[in-house]
Amino acid sequence: MIGLVAATAAGSAAARRLADAWPERTRCYDEGPVRTAVERAFADCDQLVCFLATGATVRLLAPLLRGKAADPGVVCVDEAGRFAVALLGGHGGGANALAAEVAELLGDGCTPVVTTATDAVGVPGLDSLGWPVEGAVAAVTRAVLDGAPVALRADAAWPLPALPPHVGAGGGAGGGAAVSTDVRLYVTDRRLPLAAREAVLRPPSLVVGVGASRGASADEVLGLVGETLEDAGLSPHSVTALATVDAKAGEPGLRAAAERLGVPLRTFPAAALAAVDVPTPSAAPLAAVGTPSVAEAAALTAAGADAELVVRKRKSAPAGRPAMATCAVARRRPRGRLAVVGLGPGARDLLTPRARAELRRASVVVGLDQYVAQIRDLLRPGTRVLESGLGAEEERARTAVAEARAGHAVALVGSGDAGVYAMASPALAEAGADIDVAGVPGVTAALAAAALLGAPLGHDHVAVSLSDLHTPWAVIERRVRAAAESDLVVTFYNPRSRARHRQLPEALALLAKHRAPTTPVGVVRNASRPDEHVLLTTLAELDPRSVDMMTVVTVGNSATREVAGRMVTPRGYRWQT
Ligand code: SAH
Repeated sequence: MIGLVAATAAGSAAARRLADAWPERTRCYDEGPVRTAVERAFADCDQLVCFLATGATVRLLAPLLRGKAADPGVVCVDEAGRFAVALLGGHGGGANALAAEVAELLGDGCTPVVTTATDAVGVPGLDSLGWPVEGAVAAVTRAVLDGAPVALRADAAWPLPALPPHVGAGGGAGGGAAVSTDVRLYVTDRRLPLAAREAVLRPPSLVVGVGASRGASADEVLGLVGETLEDAGLSPHSVTALATVDAKAGEPGLRAAAERLGVPLRTFPAAALAAVDVPTPSAAPLAAVGTPSVAEAAALTAAGADAELVVRKRKSAPAGRPAMATCAVARRRPRGRLAVVGLGPGARDLLTPRARAELRRASVVVGLDQYVAQIRDLLRPGTRVLESGLGAEEERARTAVAEARAGHAVALVGSGDAGVYAMASPALAEAGADIDVAGVPGVTAALAAAALLGAPLGHDHVAVSLSDLHTPWAVIERRVRAAAESDLVVTFYNPRSRARHRQLPEALALLAKHRAPTTPVGVVRNASRPDEHVLLTTLAELDPRSVDMMTVVTVGNSATREVAGRMVTPRGYRWQT
């Protein structure tokens, strides 16, 4: 819940705008003196927006502060609504992100103010990766920011965002010559003694398989899990799930144990567990639930392909009564991540926030040089950029997949939507089940052009690429003819290049057999880019010389009209006729 505190009329008006926009997320503290309002909001809420001067807010908050982990995130907005200042809890409390949201909502030039060093210079904060972090977080972060060498010691290649070059295997650039430093960042699920200037990131690497007799208590389960991890030298902060057999999905002790660990309880059918090869099968679970192994088999199954059993089955040892719980621990093999990211037609504000987030999450970016140029300023320092010229598509796709397979976080970028006449298909044709894939849709050229033309896609429509480099012309012709016969609005991609002149006139001639010469045609070149050009003409009057490879051509159907200079295709439902 976000608590809203205001003292003046202007502040209250701005608070009301937030309350109206986010009724479920906000609560107004507008009664009584400001001091008590802040105190109450601080106690109730996980975030605060104070429409007060920063000085006043600091004085009111000071006696309430408990510590970085417990305090809410606090954003201050000035009287004129020009700035949304992330005052407290930038990462942990989410104040940096909230400041951005508040500024966007208040609009009219309201600017988010973020002073957290890692955000300001584009380096990922150790505490912003979503992974638990322990040890000398401040000292290591300081060294990362100051450009001082930091030795990175990772047990495995996790798909981390880009780190600056002075953070590396030897504490030197890209794992080059070892630089001696006592500032170390470990990425491991192992317990280890930390020196004064060392921190450890806990990757989501472990799954604990558990078995339980009916009525086993959460305390017995948790006690066993805790001891097992401790004896094996493993951190509970790397545990991502408890896993067991379907028959135990409702067992209260297991459910409560998972909840107290803050992880999901994942369950699997007995038949699936019975098929897993385990070191310690036994007769008791076979008789009770139909699989010779629960803990070991569930841990391995939940941890996925190529998981490794790091602790074999153990039983709890309660004093004076039979054991009711078993557990085993498996380690996941890290999976690389391939994000296929559409950058939109060109304009920065048509790049989606999700695409932007994926670019900042990646340590490797693969794409055509002109598209990479479009977003280079958004990449984190240290991002490895693998760009290539036109053509070489298969090779680009293969490179991206190979990098993901090596465990990296990869963004494969393309203009418009990366799945439309672009890189997603060759990449996914190549990618196996051993990597994670995330697709981010982008505004494709047909949509960017349509918005400029008016409403040409108001009824059924189709896209056809006129490039016959990889598709025989006879196939393209057949599709255009079908579109003509079925009266679909058609958008031509790749309509004409320096070497290909013939295709567009031939395609238009096929459409003209079924459509009037006066049918509106939109020609849009460089939609949303600096030299954008929009032309509305007709089937009879279109001059193919106005068309090149930076252009899409949208031909209306038999009902499309020009209205006040705009291209409009009626929706054609009966209520409109
Ligand atoms: N993935 C891209 C399309 C790649 S095919 C997308 O979804 O938009 C390349 C063709 O797309 C170009 O020949 C041109 O026809 C069209 N195109 C791409 N961007 C464009 C833009 N900004 N304006 C007009 N046409 C564009």
